[in-house]
Amino acid sequence: MRALVTGGAGFIGSHLCEALVTRGDEVFVLDDLSTGAFENIEHLGEITAVIDSTLNQPIVRDLVREVDVVFHLAATVGVQLVVEKPISTIVNNIRGTETVLEEACRYRRPLLITSSSEVYGKGVNDLFQEDDDRVMGSLKRTRWGYAASKAMDEFLALAYWLEKRHPVVIARLFNTVGPRQTGRYGMVIPRFVTQALRNEPLTVHGDGSQTRCFTYVADVVPALIQLLERRDLAGDIFNLGSRECITIEELARRIIERTDSDSTIYYVPYEQVYGPGYEDMLHRAPDLTKVNAAIGFEPRTSLDEMLDEIIGNIRRKLPG
Ligand code: UDP
Repeated sequence: MRALVTGGAGFIGSHLCEALVTRGDEVFVLDDLSTGAFENIEHLGEITAVIDSTLNQPIVRDLVREVDVVFHLAATVGVQLVVEKPISTIVNNIRGTETVLEEACRYRRPLLITSSSEVYGKGVNDLFQEDDDRVMGSLKRTRWGYAASKAMDEFLALAYWLEKRHPVVIARLFNTVGPRQTGRYGMVIPRFVTQALRNEPLTVHGDGSQTRCFTYVADVVPALIQLLERRDLAGDIFNLGSRECITIEELARRIIERTDSDSTIYYVPYEQVYGPGYEDMLHRAPDLTKVNAAIGFEPRTSLDEMLDEIIGNIRRKLPG
């Protein structure tokens, strides 16, 4: 199979490319290297990488024509970028997806779109279900622009299915983590691990009582491939997450313990990090019933196993 992976030089994209190459697929990558890095994919050898944006429609068209299927992962990600660059976040996410959808439909290429658990907003249930109502914060709070952009991507994808029967499936990812994820744009685990390995204070935002369910990238990637290959799942949305939730304060303690670090915890008010009026999602946990029934998805990697892998990976990269 020939597959195009937009955002293929990013953290999740590079793991997906690796899995596709390993099983003998021919892989094409489109990535503007805004948050991705060429070093994420250079070890893969025989792939075709085009350094450009999904906003460049002629390039997207040429690549889509070359392949059998498309995985669309390219997006502006990371709370820090979303808050600092709201225009490019919204434009990249909405126009980029619009372009990929248009070209995938033109050549009838099956498409998987990665969305985010952010689309649930503040959530209405303890476990978020794909068909839940969604509660968003005020439009004055920049964070929700990212959630709205991903929701718009989903609406448009579903519209292509409804109107044109174009086979597109949506994966809603819940805090995917693993080696190669960078902490540069806010992501908590690589930040905490780097801080712990340097014996610097771990910067817990707020009081640290907010929870997340971290999902290992090696559990997510095979599910992305399966969701796209199962054509009977087209036109639908699936959560991909884990069942193990933890408070951010406990996460910090766990990382200090597992790195054997002398670090302490430093509690930073949200406003100090992201400016006034920032609103966090306090809890976010997936209901996995639907994806389990569809493809037998079950997250296998425990949080401690993930942390040990990530700690090893970051330790190897740190100078000294
Ligand atoms: N967080 C933190 N310290 C950091 C980075 C993030 O306490 O240095 C918190 C952040 O406020 C959020 C949680 O960790 O409550 C997860 O943040 P991340 O940006 O990784 O993912 P998301 O907010 O998208 O769930």
